[in-house]
Amino acid sequence: MKYQDLYRWGFQCLEQAGIEESSLDARILLESVCNTDRNTLLAHGDREVEAKQEEMYRGRIDQRAKHIPVQHLTGEQEFMGLVFRVSADVLIPRQDTEILVEEAMRELHDGMRILDMCTGSGCILLSLLHYSNHCTGTGTDISPKALEIAKNNAASLSLEAEFLESDLFTGLDMGVKFDMLVSNPPYIPSAVIPGLMEEVREHEPLCALDGKEDGLYFYRRISSEAKPFLFRGSFVFLEIGYDQGQAVTRILSEAGYQEIEVIKDFAGHDRVVKGIYMPREQCEDTE
Ligand code: GLN
Repeated sequence: MKYQDLYRWGFQCLEQAGIEESSLDARILLESVCNTDRNTLLAHGDREVEAKQEEMYRGRIDQRAKHIPVQHLTGEQEFMGLVFRVSADVLIPRQDTEILVEEAMRELHDGMRILDMCTGSGCILLSLLHYSNHCTGTGTDISPKALEIAKNNAASLSLEAEFLESDLFTGLDMGVKFDMLVSNPPYIPSAVIPGLMEEVREHEPLCALDGKEDGLYFYRRISSEAKPFLFRGSFVFLEIGYDQGQAVTRILSEAGYQEIEVIKDFAGHDRVVKGIYMPREQCEDTE
C-alpha cells in the first residue's frame, strides 16, 4: 500500500474511534514504524510501504484506537528538545513540565547539586543536567521500574546521574544536601481521577498521578521532609495543578520557605511554585 493511503486509513480509524489528535497520531505512528520523518508524507507519499511495516502499522493503529497513548506505542516522547524513552511505568513527559525546567534553569549555576523527587522517566533532572555545566543530580522514585527507565534515559543521553529507590526522602543519606529541589509529584485529587482521559486514567501509572484526598498530600510531605536535605537558600521548584497555586504557596510559606512565586504555563494556568528555603528561626530546621 502507498504511504499516503496507509496514513489516510490510520487517520480515519482513529477518527472513528474518537481519538482527539487522530491525524497527528496516525502520522507519528507511521513515521515510527517506517523510520521516516514529517516530510515523507508531503514529499514521498506515493512510495510503497513494505508489507511487514504495513502490518505493524495496522497493529499500532488498532492499539491507539483502544486509547493506548501514542507514546507507549512509539516508546518515546520528546521533552526539552531531548528524546526520552517511556513506558507504562512512568508518567509521559508533558509540555507543561517544560515550564518547570525553564524556571529552574534561571537559577541553576555551574556545579549545583540537584534533587529530583519523584523523577519518573528522569526528564526533569536529565534536562537540567543536559543544559548546565558540572551540576550533579539525584533522582528518586518509589518505583523501581520507573528508575530503570530513568537510568536508561541517562545512558542514552550520555548523562551521569544517581537514581535511588526511595519513598520520598527515606532512601537518601542523612547529611547530603542539595542546592535545588525539583519535583513534579502526583497532584490530582483522588476523586478527580475517574474523570481523566482514558489514556491517562487507564494507561499511566496511578502512583504518578494520585495526590490523595485534596491532591496536596505530596506538597505537605515534600516541603517539610526536604528540610534536612536543603541549605538555607536552596531553591525549590514544584509543578502544581492549575488550581493549587494558593494552597501550595501557603504550605511552603508555613514550612519556612520565602520569596514564593507562582508561575503560569502558556495556557495562563498556575503551573509551578518556586520558593527559597529560608527558615526564620534556626529551630524550624529540625521540625
Ligand atoms: N499533569 C498531569 C496530568 O494532567 C498530572 C501530573 C501529576 O500528577 N504530577 O495528567
